[in-house]
Amino acid sequence: MFENLSDRLERSFKILKGEGKITEINVAETLKDVRRALLDADVNYKVAKSFTDEVKRKAMGMNVLTAVKPGQLMVKIVHDELAGLMGGTAAELKLEGRPAIVLMSGLQGSGKTTFSGKLANMLKKKNRKNPLLVACDVYRPAAIEQLKVVGESVGVPVYSEPDNKDVVAIAGNAIREAKAKGYDVVIIDTAGRLAVDEEMMNEIASLKEAVNPDETLFVVDSMTGQDAVNTAREFNDRLDFNGVVLTKLDGDTRGGAALSIRTVVTKPIKFVGTGEKMEAIDVFHPERMADRILGMGDIVSLVERAQEQFDEKQARELEKKIRKNKFDFNDFMAQIQQIKKMGNIKDLAAMIPGVGKAIKDIDIDDNAFKGIEAIISSMTPKERTNPEIINQSRRMRIAKGSGTNIQEVNRLLKQFDQMRKMMKMVTSMDSSRMMQMANM
Ligand code: GDP
Repeated sequence: MFENLSDRLERSFKILKGEGKITEINVAETLKDVRRALLDADVNYKVAKSFTDEVKRKAMGMNVLTAVKPGQLMVKIVHDELAGLMGGTAAELKLEGRPAIVLMSGLQGSGKTTFSGKLANMLKKKNRKNPLLVACDVYRPAAIEQLKVVGESVGVPVYSEPDNKDVVAIAGNAIREAKAKGYDVVIIDTAGRLAVDEEMMNEIASLKEAVNPDETLFVVDSMTGQDAVNTAREFNDRLDFNGVVLTKLDGDTRGGAALSIRTVVTKPIKFVGTGEKMEAIDVFHPERMADRILGMGDIVSLVERAQEQFDEKQARELEKKIRKNKFDFNDFMAQIQQIKKMGNIKDLAAMIPGVGKAIKDIDIDDNAFKGIEAIISSMTPKERTNPEIINQSRRMRIAKGSGTNIQEVNRLLKQFDQMRKMMKMVTSMDSSRMMQMANM
């Protein structure tokens, strides 16, 4: 995401860094370049203009021309303005009702159903343990089915009334059921259309009035660029929603929607969708997104995603095993599964500062672990727990069984061995020794 924009902005700043002296002329040139980069990223032209005007005002106010590191100062100003443009600080969901009610709105195909599942899944792990999904798309028979599939995959029940076309009645019944059965959050998925139409707007507006949701979220496909911003405006005029969900940021999006929506509708982006999997959801943090756009990575989100996947008890047991040098291929396989659950590998790698750009053209997909998994699967249980016994003939058998070759098996065993040694070294070291190493 934002790869082009990141590249372009970096090049704009080069004008400043390369020059020995910063002048009003090359600052103006840089900002012209920044504006062009924003327009090419599909940012609304008014937003792009006021953005660069503001950067210029701040730059002059801070005396960029006489600053010690003017290039860096400009990057910082642009960074802070980008974060401000996207809303400054992260906007939380306000879920107060019992049950709390979340209403989804948006066009067909924007990702409402997928996001409903992702949100239920996320809330389940946080403060709302017991969500209920409600199917209020009564026009497409497949819609109810789709929500059921999504619900099943995250272990959340779905309320539906296949023969009822009255969405207000369905939602009312669902909320009654939630109260009776102790569901603490009700997520209502609604029908969208291919374009904004009066009937759809009337329906969702009356639904909103009837259920009085804690949060009305507008879901929009970020790949639709300027259209996303226009649709947001129309939905907001009618629904006065609380927040935006930008989906498909993993795709080939230029990112303009993320940068313009907040200014145009004055509502915060609350979440982003970064893939089709149920885990591919991030709380939107304007600061971190600005970091990413300027190629500074996003380590905080990466760590948070990891924390969500790793459970503490499991981690402690793993640590014990490592201390006893008992880390085996079963543990290794379990680690791989957890990493895979965190989302697309390329997306994850891109969150590491400096890495995003480097791997832009490299094709890394979720199959990155396929060979390793095949090799481990071809080991016998005994081999997995005691890798020492894997001799040459066992290696040949494993290579054949996994459809790989002996070199790949050798490589994995060698890496595994090195990893074990490393782990042992780190865990047996006392903290003062580690400090020493860190300072080396
Ligand atoms: P709805 O009509 O608004 O309910 O949209 P759906 O939830 O059915 O999503 C439409 C399509 O977009 C489906 O194929 C989803 O798998 C896909 N989709 C949804 N969110 C994302 C996302 O964040 N990234 C990607 N790549 N695809 C998504």
